[in-house]
Amino acid sequence: MNEHVASRNVTQMTMTKSRPIYLDHHASTPVDPRVLQVAIEMMVEDFGNANGVENIHGERAALAVSSAKELVASVLAAEPDDVHFTSGSTEAIQLAVGHAIATHPGPLRVAMSRVEHKAVIDTVLRAERMGMVESSWIDVDDKARLDWSSLERVFSQGVDLVCVMAANNEVGTTYPVQRITSACHAHGAAVLIDATQAVGRMAFEFGDEVPDYVALSGHKVYGPKGIGALLAPKFDRSVAFGLQGAHSPTPNVSGAVAMGRACEIMELEGAQESARLERLRDHLQERLLALVPGLVVNGDLANRLPHNLHVSIPGAPNDVVLARLRGNVSISTGSACNTGAQEPSHVLRAMGLPDAQLESCLRIGLGRNNDINDVETAATLIANAASDVRASFSGADHV
Ligand code: PLP
Repeated sequence: MNEHVASRNVTQMTMTKSRPIYLDHHASTPVDPRVLQVAIEMMVEDFGNANGVENIHGERAALAVSSAKELVASVLAAEPDDVHFTSGSTEAIQLAVGHAIATHPGPLRVAMSRVEHKAVIDTVLRAERMGMVESSWIDVDDKARLDWSSLERVFSQGVDLVCVMAANNEVGTTYPVQRITSACHAHGAAVLIDATQAVGRMAFEFGDEVPDYVALSGHKVYGPKGIGALLAPKFDRSVAFGLQGAHSPTPNVSGAVAMGRACEIMELEGAQESARLERLRDHLQERLLALVPGLVVNGDLANRLPHNLHVSIPGAPNDVVLARLRGNVSISTGSACNTGAQEPSHVLRAMGLPDAQLESCLRIGLGRNNDINDVETAATLIANAASDVRASFSGADHV
């Protein structure tokens, strides 16, 4: 492809600000044009096979994968050799749990927080049904904060692997992953940190207490879908993959390079961007609190992802509000499972929130392309939708 045509197309694709206003960045993020650019270059120019380093093309591809590992490792203060590219966080989590099971004699005792993503919960529960795991839960409080006495109880009962996320994908509560890792290691347990939502939004300084497994995903950090990584110091491919580990497939070089560049941008710009998003989020929160009587903000307001706003509007069922906003503002309930079915959120249930808050919750995730105009427009549209829905439902009650 002609270089100029490629870059013009990239610019065109990314300069048109799409409508509806997109405020669902916890679900997925658009690919950053700088990430897209390097991915295209790898596909079109440095397209060699990174497994076949017998010529300059293969060498360049292998070098590009190594550099990408350095960039991914750097954003999490990890070692490049510990980076293993996957298709996303789900696969990284499945590999981590599979590896922990395969390297442990007898059933693995796994404890997980009640607010983990279904990628963790479903994997552990399936392994339990297959007789490979004995699972237990770590409770949270009404702000989704970890209940330390529950973690202590798990330690006293004996545990081999503890699964805790760095940040919750619904209410945005963040977790002290360094402290959790140290506590787990002190009790002889390995740790799986699901950092999917946290990369570039939280500082990671593990020091000597490096988590055994960390999962991350490209499409949550302005990279493409279909690439992610497992960071694991003691990872052994052949153990984790079983038969599939017998042969290393041709690496997804453009995906790895895109993931590396996305992480690099997060490392360079994440703190500043997070501060900007936090200001926008706080403004949106203020506007919604002013416009919508009875609106409740969920999660831990003191330790929350900077781009997350999770609210409940009692009396306005969230599926009806979302239907009213359809085509104008893209937000979500955050609790839909991957089939798209609306289920009550297991996260909000674990927090013990009343049904009225559960049924009316809305998750808003701000992102790189949002500005104050988006926030102002979205605040008005969400407030109007909620008011209409409340009116129609209170009317229905009186029929
Ligand atoms: N973990 C968390 C916290 C998530 O938010 C998600 C996706 O929403 C996943 C895991 C799964 O990530 P992926 O889409 O890369 O498989």
